[in-house]
Amino acid sequence: MKKITAIILTILLIISFCGCSGTSSVTKQSFHFDTVISISTDKKDIKKSEDAFRLCSDLENIFSRTKEGSELWLLNNKKLSSLSSDLKNVIDFSLYVSSLTDGAFDITIAPLSDLWNVKERTIPPKEEEIKKHLSRVDYKKISTNPLDIKDAAIDLGAVAKGYAADLITTHFRDEGVKNAIIDLGGNVCLIGEYTVGIRDPFNPEALYAKITLKDKSAVTSGAYQRYFEHEGVRYHHIIDPRTGNCADSALASVTVISPSSMQADALSTAIYVLGEDGIRICNNFPDTDALLITENGDIITTDGFKEKYQLELFEK
Ligand code: AMP
Ligand code: MG
Repeated sequence: MKKITAIILTILLIISFCGCSGTSSVTKQSFHFDTVISISTDKKDIKKSEDAFRLCSDLENIFSRTKEGSELWLLNNKKLSSLSSDLKNVIDFSLYVSSLTDGAFDITIAPLSDLWNVKERTIPPKEEEIKKHLSRVDYKKISTNPLDIKDAAIDLGAVAKGYAADLITTHFRDEGVKNAIIDLGGNVCLIGEYTVGIRDPFNPEALYAKITLKDKSAVTSGAYQRYFEHEGVRYHHIIDPRTGNCADSALASVTVISPSSMQADALSTAIYVLGEDGIRICNNFPDTDALLITENGDIITTDGFKEKYQLELFEK
């Protein structure tokens, strides 16, 4: 039987209506990876949320680019001689996605992430500065075996939350959890079946569509998440490594659904940079689909999406 309990996942990209567990579900929140982490489980599993938050804290000490002393910080500051398996896994997977996308997805984007710094900036950087920082961006420069990143610096903001969400999901499953919504700043992993709302990128308070997912992850990338505006132009947090400027691919949002949240996370960012043709990269990953909303409000999906996920669009 499907009860509908609205769980509003604050500031996030996907709003879920919980099926299965109904009124006995509890939501706990914490702050890691520079975002709100929200975990909903059945009441009896409440203690598991604490395990999840501890895991997030441990992983933040690996993947944070800005936290002094984190493993990634040590790597970027040339103070690391070998990688933990977690960091190696995420970097190797990211390099694979870079090769599939011909560099549209590139974790060596860090110098440009620092330059653009959309959280604090109010005016865009100068073209000369962009060019200077862009010269350090090239995923082909780095290798994990042997470990060498040359003069590059790594930013895992497009993929680390997905990896963390997968580890939490695996832990919950191993512990026998049957219902959970694990939401790391919009990287949503579901244990059980849920109806999930996709935010309207043109009015993020509202929903654009809903879909039904079971034991899947859904991740959305869009220009409406982190940005500043200057002279009527929006400058956002997803950068096109081919130009050094904010990606401008005529897409308003990209939602990727996959059994792996790391895959969904990397692919949603990659497709956002590539534009609608980028949807083809889903074919490289099993059971992975995407829904793109264009700036004109058109919807583009992988084949069979509507039936597979019972897609319903909301009236405008
Ligand atoms: P997401 O919100 O998952 O789409 O990821 C956006 C974040 O990934 C940004 O805040 C940057 O930290 C990083 N990023 C931006 N552009 C790229 C890119 N082209 N490839 C890889 N990572 C990127
Ligand atoms: Mg991403």
